[in-house]
Amino acid sequence: MSARQETQCKACGRAVVMLLVMPLELHPGSQRQWAPFEPEFVSACGIRPSHAVQIGSSTARVLPATESPDPTERPALIHFAVCPARTALSGREAAIAG
Ligand SMILES: [Zn+2]
Repeated sequence: MSARQETQCKACGRAVVMLLVMPLELHPGSQRQWAPFEPEFVSACGIRPSHAVQIGSSTARVLPATESPDPTERPALIHFAVCPARTALSGREAAIAG
């Protein structure tokens, strides 16, 4: 049984992995949310990891800019940061839509 929840981004069709994101601060009303992530984090991509994932689990936490992943974690990048559909929407297509 795999913990990986593989699916496709509805916006751009790329393969993504769904991870359960823990809120940065736990307080009443804060909720875990599933979010799409890049299947593999590529450190050469020039973007710092947005999250850290517990190795062997599908739970991610927001990685503050001042922190590095723990030895039990691996870096992860939320798909929204690199989704070509999103990037397009913020520029050219947003202008067309407007
Ligand atoms: Zn996408």
